[in-house]
Amino acid sequence: MAYDYDPQNIFARILRGEIPNDTVLETEHTLVFRDIRPQTPHHLLVIPKGAYVCFDHFAAEASAEEIVDFHRTAARVCADLGISPGAGGDGFRTVSNAGLDAVQEVPHYHMHILAGRPLGPMLSRRD
Ligand code: 5GP
Repeated sequence: MAYDYDPQNIFARILRGEIPNDTVLETEHTLVFRDIRPQTPHHLLVIPKGAYVCFDHFAAEASAEEIVDFHRTAARVCADLGISPGAGGDGFRTVSNAGLDAVQEVPHYHMHILAGRPLGPMLSRRD
């Protein structure tokens, strides 16, 4: 797999503390913070601390410990926000854009957690 990680991307700079962020939860391998341009009442970004460009890069090359921590941390945030359907919450959507067609803006793997209002269809219609 040929991914070339750019260490100057904005999330790498957030991880190095060069740019402030609104942190919600941090673990050894994972950071969760609020999106700067929220599209829903809850709009969080879950990122690994390791240098991975997108989902398939992370899934292929991260350690099992990083992968488990990433998902458990995301789930913990959902529980903390009270949005988990399993605990009576109204639900959420996770989204991860990769590459050109998905219009990935920041080339550091991230998962959006979107919640707090009805989210409508998964994709907008192509007219
Ligand atoms: P993508 O389009 O790559 O899936 O999503 C990137 C997300 O990062 C966007 O929702 C955008 O608002 C968010 N973002 C971009 N720059 C910053 C920043 O400096 N701080 C924070 N907190 N979010 C950012």
